[in-house]
Amino acid sequence: MSEVVDPATGEVVGFVADTSVEEVDAAIARADAAFRHWREVAPGERARVLRRFAAVVDAHLEELARLEVRNCGHTIGNARWEAGNVRDVLDYYAGAPERLTGRQIPVPGGLDVTFHEPLGVVGVIVPWNFPMPIAAWGFAPALAAGNAVVLKPAELTPLTALRLTELAREAGVPDDVFTVLPGRGSVVGERFVTHPAVRKVCFTGSTEVGTRIMAGCAAQVKRLTLELGGKSANLVFADADLERAAATAPYAVFDNAGQDCCARSRILVQRPVYDRFLELLEPAVRALRVEDPARESAEMGPLISAAQRDRVAGYVDGATVAFTGSRPDGPGFWYAPTVLLADSVADRHWREEIFGPVVSVLPFDDEADAIRLANDTEYGLSGSIWTRDVGRAVRVARAVEAGNLSVNSHSSVRYWTPFGGMKRSGLGRELGPDALHAFTDVKNVFIATEE
Ligand code: NAD
Repeated sequence: MSEVVDPATGEVVGFVADTSVEEVDAAIARADAAFRHWREVAPGERARVLRRFAAVVDAHLEELARLEVRNCGHTIGNARWEAGNVRDVLDYYAGAPERLTGRQIPVPGGLDVTFHEPLGVVGVIVPWNFPMPIAAWGFAPALAAGNAVVLKPAELTPLTALRLTELAREAGVPDDVFTVLPGRGSVVGERFVTHPAVRKVCFTGSTEVGTRIMAGCAAQVKRLTLELGGKSANLVFADADLERAAATAPYAVFDNAGQDCCARSRILVQRPVYDRFLELLEPAVRALRVEDPARESAEMGPLISAAQRDRVAGYVDGATVAFTGSRPDGPGFWYAPTVLLADSVADRHWREEIFGPVVSVLPFDDEADAIRLANDTEYGLSGSIWTRDVGRAVRVARAVEAGNLSVNSHSSVRYWTPFGGMKRSGLGRELGPDALHAFTDVKNVFIATEE
């Protein structure tokens, strides 16, 4: 049994049974059997089932959002967006089964065609920071392509995933085609890696665990998608709209209390506007509404756990604090938004993923310096570029080694565009038009036509 805690109050709100290895094996065997039927369901019917699943999620949007507020401390506004994202991702990939076309390639002596075959059972392993969307980015395209899914939510945040399987059943997703198995990473997650009937692992989480999972998958040449950590740069050039850059920077890093793999946790500011930028940033950080996440006005909630709060605090100890925002008193795992000045690029808070509401600021000299500093990290997930010079925006966007960049904006995720990391931030891409292919293998068939 694992405790489920409300991070805004620290109160235990429930218990969820941990799945044992024997139970995981039995669930995978059932999923493997269900896959054989699901892959034969006509594309139009599979599409209809997924559309119904999206509609049922839509009908339970508020319930799912409230559950996420309680289990994760997400602000109600964010949680509604997250539940809506599950609906949208399902709707988007519901259009895929009928469009999963192969190719006809000209060859002599016959007909050559390709098929995108489903893989079998796909294991999806989800972290605690965005339980709903990250689950859907795995299960929706996997199901659309004709696979069965076993999904392990994070130990701390199993509630919405469990509710989503109930809603799937209600929508007519056949038994055992989509199964949620709460429990420990070292038990359930590990078994997804070692069980030969699981043909692909879709992992989102820390780079450390992802690296181990990749090594484990290698033993069976198991397909793998990795969405890992980040230490993304927000580059502010002197010619930028400084007011907008400073007003939006807090949301780019403190959203979800900084527990966001895309958090722009390193702000690089061109030297001539460095002081002015900090002057504008301070009131924006102080104005951020850190409060009970169930309130409509909340902009930031608590951290997920006491352990995470202690970890974050460890990065701030001894660092140069420029200013902080506010946090409520009382119980819950609260931490005030904090702006640090980097004394050197060797600072721990500059180099490591903190995964909390802490941002580090550093000045840079010119474009080449900005690119060099932005790329001076093992990560490569996202980043932002603030400039009014279109040529520079394109040059810098091409030069920064990250999978998702935005110019004069901090957007990272749209369900219809590809998402994923370069370097040690990951492998493969989720979402967008091509993600479906990551849940299939290409089969080439030649049919002789000569008599
Ligand atoms: P984590 O790596 O500790 O855990 C992630 C999941 O893996 C959990 O479900 C956990 O139970 C499971 N797990 C742990 N050990 C395992 C093992 N040995 N085998 C199989 N599964 C195992 O990460 P976390 O602390 O839950 O999440 C935070 C991390 O996730 C951050 O580093 C963050 O950057 C990353 N993240 C990345 C993305 C992205 O899309 N790139 C999105 C969200 C979070």
